[in-house]
Amino acid sequence: MSSPLLEFSKKGIYCAEADVYIDPWKPVPKALITHGHSDHARWGHSYYMCHRLTAPILRHRLDRKLKIREVEYGEQIAINGVQFSFHPAGHILGSSQIRVSYRGEIWVVSGDYKTEDDALCTPLEIVHCHTFITECTFGLPVFRWKSQAEVFVQINSWWRQNSSQGKPSVLYGYSLGKAQRLIKHLDPGIGPIWTHGAVENINEVFRKEGVILPETRQVTQQMRLNDASGMIVVAPPGAFNSTWSKKFKGASHAAASGWMAMRGPRRRKGVDRGFVLSDHADWQGLNDVIEATGAENVIATHGYTNIFVQWLREKGLNAMTEETAFTGENLEETEETIAK
Ligand SMILES: [Zn+2]
Ligand SMILES: [Zn+2]
Repeated sequence: MSSPLLEFSKKGIYCAEADVYIDPWKPVPKALITHGHSDHARWGHSYYMCHRLTAPILRHRLDRKLKIREVEYGEQIAINGVQFSFHPAGHILGSSQIRVSYRGEIWVVSGDYKTEDDALCTPLEIVHCHTFITECTFGLPVFRWKSQAEVFVQINSWWRQNSSQGKPSVLYGYSLGKAQRLIKHLDPGIGPIWTHGAVENINEVFRKEGVILPETRQVTQQMRLNDASGMIVVAPPGAFNSTWSKKFKGASHAAASGWMAMRGPRRRKGVDRGFVLSDHADWQGLNDVIEATGAENVIATHGYTNIFVQWLREKGLNAMTEETAFTGENLEETEETIAK
């Protein structure tokens, strides 16, 4: 039997036929990158290939001088006779699934994905394949997302209420992806939208690429907070309980994450409100996407893999788990790690 088209090696998902890696976690000569989150996009590869909107993120976060080939969705790239193409994953701006096709066999590496259109990144595209390598961060039936519209009604009314009581609102979401989604759907009629520097830096990267975001103002050292009452500040989760966040006297603090669906105060980590808003597919979303791909073989990577794989096997699929380094340590920006 010939070896599989993609294999899980010590350095990452490897295509021996083309001699390239997908989202490798150790330095390699050629890396194809699904998206800019740091558990997928590591430093130290000699050559990167990614979607056009992921490239400026890699340059901003890893190194300005990276060698990157930028690709568009659907563009066909042949490497040693293997066909590669990037397709929208709907997770964050620039996020891609990577399709690999060779001698009639098709594999898709999902990266991270969500099913709902967030009105910011290109919505998820279903890509038919024989083998689907899927994330399953929220692969338990308890994870069921409300529609984005419903969640933003909650968020905006929380902000409006704080504003009417003269309190500032501080809203936490990871700086690449979640923060921009929050900003996009906040109601600027309530008050001005302020940002933490880490969030504003990413906003700037995207604005330079032509992405349209509502007007934001960055919180600076010199900023006077006397008239902060109606404002909302969007900040990364790591800023909670810091000297920075304590500047906002009497503020209400809230987090937006899929993990807020879990019960218990430990998940909330002391914030006043939790909004269930994720950039990953929920249980139903994962099942729907897997079915729609038509894949007979499913490889589950980060998340509740064992339970999820068991479930897929009961449905008659050839499912298995593979270990990756995608659930990285100390990566507060990625949603996978907020639960830790
Ligand atoms: Zn991600
Ligand atoms: Zn991930």
